[in-house]
Amino acid sequence: MDRTTLIDIEDRYGAHNYLPLDVVIERGEGVWVYDVAGKRYLDCLSAYSALNQGHCHRRVIQALVDQAQKLTLTSRAFRNDQLPLLCKEICKLAGYGMFLPMNTGAEAVETALKTARRWAYEEKGVPDGQAEMITCQNNFHGRTITIITFSTEPLYRDGFGPFTPGFVTIPYGDAGALERAITPHTAAFLVEPIQGEAGVIVPPDGYLKQVRDICTRHNVLFMADEIQTGLGRTGKLFACDHENVRPDVMILGKALGGGIYPVSGVLASKEILGIFEPGMHGSTFSGNPLGAAVARESLRVLVEEGMIENAAVMGGYFIGHLREALDGNERVRDIRGKGLLVGVELHVEVGGARKFCEELAVRGLLCKETHKDVVRFAPPLMIDGEATDWAMQQIVEVLDMPLSDLRTVS
Ligand SMILES: *Cc1c(COP(=O)(O)O)cnc(C)c1O
Repeated sequence: MDRTTLIDIEDRYGAHNYLPLDVVIERGEGVWVYDVAGKRYLDCLSAYSALNQGHCHRRVIQALVDQAQKLTLTSRAFRNDQLPLLCKEICKLAGYGMFLPMNTGAEAVETALKTARRWAYEEKGVPDGQAEMITCQNNFHGRTITIITFSTEPLYRDGFGPFTPGFVTIPYGDAGALERAITPHTAAFLVEPIQGEAGVIVPPDGYLKQVRDICTRHNVLFMADEIQTGLGRTGKLFACDHENVRPDVMILGKALGGGIYPVSGVLASKEILGIFEPGMHGSTFSGNPLGAAVARESLRVLVEEGMIENAAVMGGYFIGHLREALDGNERVRDIRGKGLLVGVELHVEVGGARKFCEELAVRGLLCKETHKDVVRFAPPLMIDGEATDWAMQQIVEVLDMPLSDLRTVS
């Protein structure tokens, strides 16, 4: 079916909770995707970092197919032969004592919130029903009602109340604000080591170390949402590794399923995750053997194929070169990021980044604006020098074009 027919059908029968670029993708391989007319694009979004391993990675697909032909779901009413190995392998890789598997990112965040509340009542001695959680302005942690309770984006919140009590919000990157916000009832501080959705906001150097120190001193759980920044995206296994900081609770999702199958989860010590007893929490599909097999292979591929190191090398090259080539471009306000999570912020007067994303799509590079003025570039982690050079050339040229020359895909 052709592109416009498919778009019409989707717009007629599908809810309009997204505003996609009108590219209709049919096939993907590594860093490349192909639309229904066979046109090739370089994917510089990677499904918001869910595709760190690239599209349809051969080994992960093989693991999926092999497992799908054997066993897909047991529910946790019974055990399966994949979940134990995923738990062990991810704990060893990440340096934690226990893993609690879920499916989507938002579910993993909810799991972390429940963990912290229960921990506060049982371990910290907070009076029942009074646990508080601290979060940051401009955070993104998912879309459930509890999670949007502490969103500061009106679009995500308006009209969805009433909300969940027990959350306070402080400025991001401000360790002093964290210390001042802590009370005897504070259970946890939930934070992204780099705020992806907010526009690739990198906190000041030393922030995560200070957070670690403050949380330790006040017996508050430091919970890092590394759903977007984790698993190699920033050139280290976790973004917290850049400051050699170990959060008490590590929240993962997205690339844990290799962009193939939703797998998420929470890592913590035995003391913390040990608060869960049978029946207290769960999800029918969590820890299913199909997802566990996919996650195991997704982790192996990241490590064995050197993707994390490649993200560091290519990311450094990408940011360095863009800064140089866009130096003097009057539209560009800031270029920032770590590894292959890169944000190019335009001045407000430019009137939004969307039109540049459209022109880039016409040229065969897929990326997406976040929060109007920032373009996020986050290609799969195995991108090579040649594709990186081509991408940078397109970006530099497009950001230099007269507005009237910019084309749109639709
Ligand atoms: C994507 C994302 C989530 C939510 O994950 P879903 O799978 O979409 O529910 C949470 N936190 C961060 C930092 C994310 O990037």
